[in-house]
Amino acid sequence: MNFYCMTLFPDMVNDAFNTSITKRACENGIISMTAVNIRDFADNKHNSVDDYPYGGGAGMLMQAEPVYRCYEYIKGKIGSNARVIYTTPTGKVFNQKMSEEFAKEENLIFLCGHYEGIDERVLEEIVTDNVSIGDYVLTGGELASLVMMDSISRLVPGVLNNLSSARYESHSEGLLEYPQYTRPAVWHGKSVPEVLLSGNHKKIQEWYKEESYKRTMERRPDMLENDI
Ligand code: SAM
Repeated sequence: MNFYCMTLFPDMVNDAFNTSITKRACENGIISMTAVNIRDFADNKHNSVDDYPYGGGAGMLMQAEPVYRCYEYIKGKIGSNARVIYTTPTGKVFNQKMSEEFAKEENLIFLCGHYEGIDERVLEEIVTDNVSIGDYVLTGGELASLVMMDSISRLVPGVLNNLSSARYESHSEGLLEYPQYTRPAVWHGKSVPEVLLSGNHKKIQEWYKEESYKRTMERRPDMLENDI
C-alpha cells in the first residue's frame, strides 16, 4: 500500500505518520507514505496557490492548476490511475467499512484542502471519493488524511503483529469491543472478572460477546438499530 498525500503542510503529515506503528511499517517496506507539497507546483515567484473566490465571500480558495499539476506528478510516479480521496466536511463520513474497502487498493492519493477549500473544477476532474471524518470543520485536511491513513494502514496485512488484533475490534463486526484487563489481577481493590482467569476458552468467548453487546447497547444503541 502506497499513500500519497497532496498538502500545503508536508511536515505535519510526515511528522505524524513517521511515528510508532506506521513508522515501523514504512521501515519494513509494508507501506509507504509520500507527502507532496502542492506549493511546489505554483506558477508564480511567490509560490502562492490561493486566490479570492468568485462571487465574493470570506476567505481564500486553493487554485485548480497547482493542485492539478501536483496530481499529474503523482500519477506519473504511480504509472496508472489511483483513487483520489478529497478530505472534505461535505463528504461521506468515514467508517471502518470504508477503511476496509480502501485497504484493498495498492495506491491511494489523499488531497488536503486548506483555507476555504479548493476550486470545484479540479475536484470534478481528479477526485474519486469525497470523505469527511465527522460533522465538524477543521482548518485543513491534513489531520483528516492522517486519521484515514492510520486506520487503513492497520488493515494492511503485516502492519500489526497479529492481524486478529485488527479483526476483532470495535466496529469491525458491528459491535464495540468488550472491556479488557491486564496485570495486576487486583488494582485499586477492583478484581479482573473471574471468567477471564478461568482458562475456559469457550466461556471467555461467550463473555466477550455478551460484554460487547452490553457496551454497544449502553454507548452506541444506534449501531444496533442500524443492524436491524
Ligand atoms: N469551506 C469549507 C466548507 O464549509 O465545507 C470548509 C473548509 S475547511 C476550513 C478547509 C479544509 O479542511 C477543507 O478543504 C478540507 O480539506 C479540510 N476539512 C475540514 N473539515 C473536515 C472534515 N470534517 N473532514 C475532512 N476534511 C475536513
